[in-house]
Amino acid sequence: MFNVGWLTAPAGLLRAGEDMDESIRIPVPAYLIETETERILVDTGLHPASISDPDDFYRRPWAFGPFGPEQDESIADQIDLRTITKVVLTHLHWDHAGALSLIPARTPVVVQRTEWAAGHDDAAVQRNFYLPPDYAASDRPIELVDGDHDLLGDGSIVLLLTPGHTPGHQSVQIGDLVLGADVVHFQSGLDDHRFPLFGDDHAAQARSAERLKALHDAGHTVLPGHDPAVLRPGPVTA
Ligand SMILES: [Zn+2]
Repeated sequence: MFNVGWLTAPAGLLRAGEDMDESIRIPVPAYLIETETERILVDTGLHPASISDPDDFYRRPWAFGPFGPEQDESIADQIDLRTITKVVLTHLHWDHAGALSLIPARTPVVVQRTEWAAGHDDAAVQRNFYLPPDYAASDRPIELVDGDHDLLGDGSIVLLLTPGHTPGHQSVQIGDLVLGADVVHFQSGLDDHRFPLFGDDHAAQARSAERLKALHDAGHTVLPGHDPAVLRPGPVTA
């Protein structure tokens, strides 16, 4: 696990029922999965050039909305991106896809078809606060998947369709470890379903949280998307 940014925002925005006048600072993680033949990056974090002035970087006002960004080191500072064989995007939000342009254009990206479609639909872009320059057209191969997907064909890494936070959000299961991404921002969300106030479909998100909770109850380690009490950079073992 790498830290690829920090976001500060009203606590009540990120967790229903919290105080809107209180701020909370949450980490932005990315993950590297290494096999004998693959180095798979799961999410990219914030683009380093977007930190000091997001509106200028994205050429639009209020690009990050109420989120204040910080970054110690970008993903490019922490991994030789030329060695990455695949990028899996859990979803297209800018804290997950922001640094995609730093990765060589030959490197394929794996994303759910419904997420990709939403990212190219004007109404869905507005509703989900996507920033399309993050994933704008290039020669990069895009591998669109439909629902749960055996990434390498050997059962070792399985993409789990967990929609709700965004239309085609996905989680990543590696053996007993599940990278839940933004199904829940905080670990407690698996039980209390106190999601961020924003989100594409909270009923679908609740069903996705129940799916991850069932995996947790069956003995899997399920990591939340942005919980400062849980997400510590370094090797992750199930
Ligand atoms: Zn996020």
